Amino acid sequence: MDLQYSEADREFRERARAWLVDAVPKQPRPAHGAEAASFDRAWQRKMYEHGWAGVAWPKQYGGLGLTGLQQVIWYEELARARAPHYINTTYIALMHAGPTLIARGTDAQKAFHLPKILSGEALWCQGFSEPNAGSDLASLKTRGDVGNDDIVVNGAKMWTTDAKYADYQELLIRTDPASERHKGLTWLIGDMKAPGIDIKPIRTMLMDEHVNTVFYDNVHIPLVNVVGEIDKGWSTALSTLSFERGLGFIGDQLELYERVGRAIDLAGKTRLEDGRFAIEDDGIAQRLASLKADSLAIRAMTLAHITESDRTGDPGPKGSLMKLLVTGTHKALSETVGEILGWSFLEFNGDRTEHPWTYDYLWSWVFSISGGTSEIQREITADRLLELPRAR
Ligand SMILES: Cc1cc2nc3c(=O)[nH]c(=O)nc-3n(C[C@H](O)[C@H](O)[C@H](O)COP(=O)(O)OP(=O)(O)OC[C@H]3O[C@@H](n4cnc5c(N)ncnc54)[C@H](O)[C@@H]3O)c2cc1C
Repeated sequence: MDLQYSEADREFRERARAWLVDAVPKQPRPAHGAEAASFDRAWQRKMYEHGWAGVAWPKQYGGLGLTGLQQVIWYEELARARAPHYINTTYIALMHAGPTLIARGTDAQKAFHLPKILSGEALWCQGFSEPNAGSDLASLKTRGDVGNDDIVVNGAKMWTTDAKYADYQELLIRTDPASERHKGLTWLIGDMKAPGIDIKPIRTMLMDEHVNTVFYDNVHIPLVNVVGEIDKGWSTALSTLSFERGLGFIGDQLELYERVGRAIDLAGKTRLEDGRFAIEDDGIAQRLASLKADSLAIRAMTLAHITESDRTGDPGPKGSLMKLLVTGTHKALSETVGEILGWSFLEFNGDRTEHPWTYDYLWSWVFSISGGTSEIQREITADRLLELPRAR
């Protein structure tokens, strides 16, 4: 791995840093709801208008076509500038729907959707999981009857993040009723405003309603919205999952180091019940030191992963290992901050800006489930990276 930054890398960092100084919104992002969605759209539009949208997308589709190392630089500069977090309502559109369309979509689908995604005009959600199909996605049952012009969808999807604000959906359904497992599935572009769609929010411990159950009652989706082939949607879904689990979290991986730094500052300023500063407690100091070491190791592994992925053109299964490490460290960090803050850590009104550490702690539970649970990431790591024998 060559960690020497080229002249072009250094020049890119300076340009990004200079732009972000004035561009980052001064007002904090609203905690959740429609206001948060319009804030995210506006920030995305601003990046688009100034030529900073789609860092990982090829230039021919309006992206920046950056190398892996330059993407790292971009995420480092975003974290440094305290820019709005990139895992927001634009995340699914930019990090997996767009890349899936680039890899698998028709020219018409690309021409229509990609500019809307890049400019923040269209938000997307992901309709994969169902009440009985999460980790075992291949057991999904939402049904699509294929006609001459369209597919009629009936069933329900579960845990659909930001369904209420999304314009479109990555929708995976069973089009061959006689099929089993990953055969007979189809990946569709679903219009979230189509008649027959009913969205019921689920209230979570984050005190918001960002996840939903989505019901489909005879929803007509035109055949031109099929991405890939009818009944062969599993391979398109694998593309989507590889974007989701591949490099989709690099920003979070790099930001960890920054956050550990903030926790160390906090420990130097916050007094424990016995009057000492938290950093004077050996146990807390030791945990912060080991978190700093872990976050540095994660940063180094991210750089190695991204360099390898640049070289081979394939992020491979290492994304699973990285997700596992980053979610575990994320959780350990917010637990340590809980010790530093004491009782006040338990105060939470759902506002990320007012209670950032408590929000992070609650989010750490989401993070270790959504996008594939930690147990599944361990299975993939054991099977595909360590090549251990299967238990069953
Ligand atoms: C906040 C949140 C947001 C989400 N957003 C979306 C979204 O936008 N779109 C979407 O489609 N989905 C979304 N999901 C769904 C998410 O992908 C699933 O919850 C996840 O894949 C787990 O599936 P499950 O809930 O069915 O649990 P299950 O698969 O039933 O798992 C239950 C437990 O068993 C373990 N387990 C299951 N299989 C194995 C195995 N083979 N080996 C070892 N352990 C195993 C799991 O790790 C877990 O601990 C979201 C989930 C959450 C919590």
